[in-house]
Order: sequence, then structure tokens, then C-alpha cells
Amino acid sequence: MIVKVALSGANRAFDQPFDYCVPVELEKKLQVGQMVGVPFGHRKKATPGYVVAILEDSEVADTSQDKKSELKAIESLLTKTPVVTNEQLRLAVEMRKRYFCSFSQALDTMLPPRISVKGGVKTRYARLVDRDAVLEMLETDAFRSQGHIRVSELLIDQEGLPVAEIKAAADVTDSVLQTLVKNEVLEIFSVEEERKAPEVVPYEKVKAPALRPAQKKALDILEDACRTSGEGRLKEYLLHGVTGSGKTEVYLQLGEKLLQAGKSVMVLVPEIALTPQMEQRIRSRFGLDVAILHSRLTLTERYEAWQRIARGDAKIVVGARSAVFAPLKNIGLIVLDEEHEATYKSGIKPRYHAADIARLRCLMHDAVLLLGSATPSVESYQRARDGRSTLLTLPERIGRAGRPTITLVDMKGVPKKGIHAIISESLQDALTDAFSRDEQAMILINRRGHARLTICQSCGHVLTCGSCEVALISHLNVHSKVQSKRLLCHHCDRIYQKPPACPSCGEDQLQEVGYGTQQVEDALNTLFPAAGVARMDQDTTVRRQSHAAILERFATDEAKILLGTQMIAKGHDFPNVTVVGILSADQLLNGDDFRAAERGFSLILQAAGRAGRGSLPGHVYIQAYNTEDATLKQVIAHDYDAFFETDAAYRKRLGYPPYSHLGIVLFSGHKEDETKKAAEQFHKLLQEAKARYEKYAGLTLLPVAKAPLSRLRNRYRYRLIVKGENRQLITEWLALVDDTMPTGLVSRAIDIDPYSML
Ligand code: ADP
Ligand code: ZN
Repeated sequence: MIVKVALSGANRAFDQPFDYCVPVELEKKLQVGQMVGVPFGHRKKATPGYVVAILEDSEVADTSQDKKSELKAIESLLTKTPVVTNEQLRLAVEMRKRYFCSFSQALDTMLPPRISVKGGVKTRYARLVDRDAVLEMLETDAFRSQGHIRVSELLIDQEGLPVAEIKAAADVTDSVLQTLVKNEVLEIFSVEEERKAPEVVPYEKVKAPALRPAQKKALDILEDACRTSGEGRLKEYLLHGVTGSGKTEVYLQLGEKLLQAGKSVMVLVPEIALTPQMEQRIRSRFGLDVAILHSRLTLTERYEAWQRIARGDAKIVVGARSAVFAPLKNIGLIVLDEEHEATYKSGIKPRYHAADIARLRCLMHDAVLLLGSATPSVESYQRARDGRSTLLTLPERIGRAGRPTITLVDMKGVPKKGIHAIISESLQDALTDAFSRDEQAMILINRRGHARLTICQSCGHVLTCGSCEVALISHLNVHSKVQSKRLLCHHCDRIYQKPPACPSCGEDQLQEVGYGTQQVEDALNTLFPAAGVARMDQDTTVRRQSHAAILERFATDEAKILLGTQMIAKGHDFPNVTVVGILSADQLLNGDDFRAAERGFSLILQAAGRAGRGSLPGHVYIQAYNTEDATLKQVIAHDYDAFFETDAAYRKRLGYPPYSHLGIVLFSGHKEDETKKAAEQFHKLLQEAKARYEKYAGLTLLPVAKAPLSRLRNRYRYRLIVKGENRQLITEWLALVDDTMPTGLVSRAIDIDPYSML
């Protein structure tokens, strides 16, 4: 017996399946998708790998006897059963072609961490060494990194948490934890974990409402598509409906039909922790058939959920981006809710988009792909226009109140100091009215912290991070009893104390400019001392249950105001909210890249859509300086089509996706000259390849330039951009150079049609 094994952790140079023979005693136990240990090169220890194929006898017969006797044998089985399915192996092949990753990097992305390591159920935990000492450190601002603070806050009321969970929740790396262990803040211990059955969440079965005509029409078309074969073509639909128009209800009822027909269903959402309501709604319809996958699951929970899906016990999977890889069988439908959200695109290798993977899987299963959005991405809307997907529309809101009214508040001329520069008089009046009627409000300010910049009024110097080319953001220390502030780098987490005088000119003229969630919270508390403010941003949601706890305070009316960053704009359905305030709209609409308008348009409409969801009419107040902004006007008119036309024309003119494709290669290194040289070398090799192969002639190569964030975490950053109409050719061209040029000390990242241009 001969098997093909792809080595785990191989770089692309060794990234091909290698042949191994199988000792007789293992033959019976071996299946495709299992992990095995194999000898490789001069390594002493066995190298782990995935069995990707077992050769048929006829194929083995072709192999010469000499070659057979040269083959090395598999040393051991690392897993008793397959950890990846055949489908996942096929996906990995596709991903390798598209995303500059190795075969095993693709597979590693698909597996929950627990399954990709050998045996054992010991889990590494961490806890604080001395809670009181840590409390004191927090209060006196003794930590030098915000990452250290997040870890401490996370553990302060816990006996200990799994290391993997701490890393995910506090968004820190191993090295941060190691530093904390070295500083005797943290200690690591192991726990023998028992595999417990999944917690049975109590749920009450809720009956589905009768659909409105527009919903019914969409459902009928979709049901029909589910029943008929696509004959090898993708069955893709785009459900465009304003917030509250009943899209989710269509997913749910279509899902029910598919379950009855014996199929399984995948529902992807941008970030599941933010939408406990969605989770509840799905559970209340489907009960125990549901497996929910999200980033805050413990490893055991994740493992169990994965097993239930693989066994076919859970026929509905709900989860964020990576859930698209769940080993669900017999898929009838994949839903991408809020398909325009950037979280569907992975920012690390492999840089896939969940919709791409969903398309591949839908083709393999002959399943329907349903994208849903109130503000479709330009990409998806253009696909519908081109006939590559079918557009379904829900034009009306379900609730009696209809669309909210939108008032644009011109902030020009408002004195920059004082509370009304944050909460305008008109918004204040609206809030006063709402509270007098016992209604609630939501306030969006998409910037966390206290102030946006600290600037010297005398020389104009802006305080920046010593390791990154970015301005520092001032934050209040919430643990301190006195009002104390610190400066924080939002990119590397470093903390700085505010200098007594300007480091550039020495004058005592440092001033804070702009505001973030913390300052808005203060302003609201001053204006409405009795209302109660629930603040939701990255800083208040480190703990596992914190999202749910904050939303609970709002749902039970303990807080009249829900204030937060974009987190609050998504999916929430609070019928008692009648006023939505959107602060600093200028900042939402102007960003560094070609998607800025799309993001701003969708975020503002999304947030506005939180008002007036029940029977009470909603009122939205948008505060802005540039009241003439074209996108803003389209938002106020609720005119998606006008927005699409403008944005599409702009992207066509400048050659941006989906009308042209972009490949960005980002180089980063500790030495500036080395980094630049590496980028130039890559550029030269691309040019040579272009001269050699005619097929690349139509692609454009732009010169090497500094990245917009030219230094980050002490690394210099350069980039080069390629453009062209054929995405596959761009990928091929870049891979040709990427696979041949060694990396050395300068690392590089390649992204096709990126979501972040920084
Ligand atoms: P969307 O996903 O487009 O934001 P939802 O599906 O959440 O819209 O619907 C908005 C609200 O209307 C929800 O509270 C939902 O329960 C309710 N709803 C949806 N469809 C119907 C219907 N056909 N009849 C009554 N209520 C409905
Ligand atoms: Zn920094």
C-alpha cells in the first residue's frame, strides 16, 4: 500500500504530497484525511502530515519495484480517524492556488486547534499570581502595554482560563503571555479536561410568522432553486432588503424547508458574539439541531461542536468567517448575512474571503448561496447586474413605523469646546423627548478612547508612538479612583504617560483634540444623569460574557442609552429605540482606501436602521462638518442605487475591484533600507517575468512605495501594487516570483483585492 502525504508546516517549496509505504499492521487502520507521522529529510523526529490519497492497486502497479523499495514507511498514526474530509482536501488544493499559502496552511485554517495536535486532553490554563497586586498595578497604571491590561482585566474575576481563550479574547500573542509570566503577573498550569457533553441551552420553540408578499416571493424563488439542480453552475442569490425588512425571517423559513428535505444549512454572520439575538432566534426555531461556532468558545466546546457537525448531529451551523469550513455534509444552503462586512475577509494567511469559499462549497454540493444585505457590497451588486447572481428585493420594513426620519446636523460654527460639540443641541432635545416618553436611544461614535489626538498648540507637534507611525490616543484609566489618563497606541498596544511639556518645542501647550467613546460617555452622563449609559467598545468587551451583559442592561431598560463603536450598529433589534445619534460622520465617510465610501454608507444606514424597529417611529441625527458630502446625501435619501452608481463609476475610473483587480505585496522589516531593497528586488523579478511571458503584458505594475502605515511595531513597511482585469493572472504572476524569491529577514504578505490598504 502506498499513500500520499502532505507535510504539516511545509513551506510552498516542499508543498507537494510525498509517497510513503504503509507497514502491514497499519494498512487496515489507514484512511484519507488522517494525520500520520512520517520520516522526512534529516529530521530526527517524525514529521506530521495529512494522508491526502491512498493509491489504488492499479496505480501502485505502475510504480517500479526500485522506486517502491526506496520509499520510506509511515512511522505512526497521529489520529485514529480522519481529521479532514475529502471535501476539505479539495478546498485546500483550491486555496493553495488562490491565496499564496501552502496546502497544510490551508488545512490548518480549517481545523479547530484541538484536532490538529496529537492525542492528550490536557489544556494549558493561566491565572493571576496575586490578584491584589494586579489590582494595584491597574490602579496606579503600572503596566506598559494595553495587551497586559486586557489579560489582567480578563483574569481578575476568574480562577483561570485556557491560554488559547485568553489569546483570542484579549487579542494577544504568546510572547505577551510569556512576558507576563516572566514579570510574575501570570502563572501557567495544566488541567486535565474531561470531554463533557455540550451544554443543553434551554429554548422555547417559537412559531414562524406568516410571510409578507415580498418575503413569500423571495422564499418561493429560493425554494425552487434549492429543488432544481444547478447543472454544474453556481446557484447564487442576493437578497437586498433594508434593515428590518424580514431578511432573517426568509433565511429561517428557507432553512426549515431544507431541513425537512434532509439537507443541512450554514448561516454565516459577521461576528457572532455581537449578535446574541440572532443566536437566540435561530435556536428558538431549530433547537438542538444547531451548532454555534464562535471565537469565544473554549477549545473543548469548539471540539465538541465540530464533532457534532461531523457526525451529522447538528444540521445547522451558525458562525463567523471560519465556520465556512465546518465539516457539514449534504449542504443545501449557505447564507452570508450582512455580506458586505469586512470581517468576512481574513487578514492573515490564507487571506480568503468567506464568500469565495462558500461558492466553492456550494458548487461541490449543488447548494444555494444566499447573500443578504441592506447595503450590498459593490462587488455583489455588480455580480447581480452581470447576471452572475439573482437579485431578490424586500423593499419595505416589517414594523408599522416605516423608515426613520434622518436629520443632518451641521456642526460648523458650533464652538469646539463644550458639550454641544459632542452632543449637539438638536440631538440633546431629541434625547430629552425620547426619555420623557420612556423610550431608548443609541449613539454611534466609531472611535474608542477619550480623545483622538494630543497636539501642541504652540508648534503643532502631534504625539506619536515610538514604534509605529501613528498618533497616540488618550484613554481614561477606569481602574483609577482619580481621573487619570494615559496615551495608547492602538496598533501595538504600547502605553505612554502624558509628557508634562511638548517633547518637540518644550512649551506646556499640549491639548487634546477630538473625542472617542469615553468622552461621549462623560458628556451623556453630564447631560442625562438619570438615564444610564451602557458603553460597548473593544475596551469594555474583553470578557467572555461582556457583550451579552451590556446588551442585557440595555434590553432590561436599566440603561436608556447604548453608546458604542460600530459594534452597536449591527443586527440588534430593540423595538423601544426611537433615537439614533451618529457622531463624527465625517470620519466614517473618509478613509484611506477605495472602500471608505462603501463602508461609511453601510455603517451609517445600518446604525440608522436601529431606530424605529417596533411600532414607534424612529429619528436619526447625523452630526457632520462636511454636510455637502455626496455619500452623506445618498444616505439621507436612503438611496442605495444612487450610491452604487457613484461608487461604481469611481472604481471603474480608477481601476478598483470589481472592475479591475488589485494585488498588494507588503514588505516589512526592521531595517528600512533592507525592506525597501527587498521590495525593489521583487519588483524587478515581476518586471522580468512580465518581459518573458506575453500573457502578463496587460497587467500593470506600480512602483515600490512606502505603505500608508510606514512603520508598525518597529518594522518599516513598503509595498507594491499590481493591477489588471484578470485576477487569476495577477495571482499567477505574483506566485511565480513569490515562490522563487527567498524571504530572508524581510517578510512579505500578498493580498489580492484587499480589504485593508494600510
Ligand atoms: P432583517 O433581517 O431584514 O433586519 P428581520 O427578519 O430581523 O429583518 O425582521 C425584522 C422584525 O420583523 C423582526 O422582529 C422579525 O421577527 C419581524 N418579522 C419578520 N418577518 C415577519 C413577518 N412576516 N410577520 C411578522 N413579523 C415579522
Ligand atoms: Zn505603536
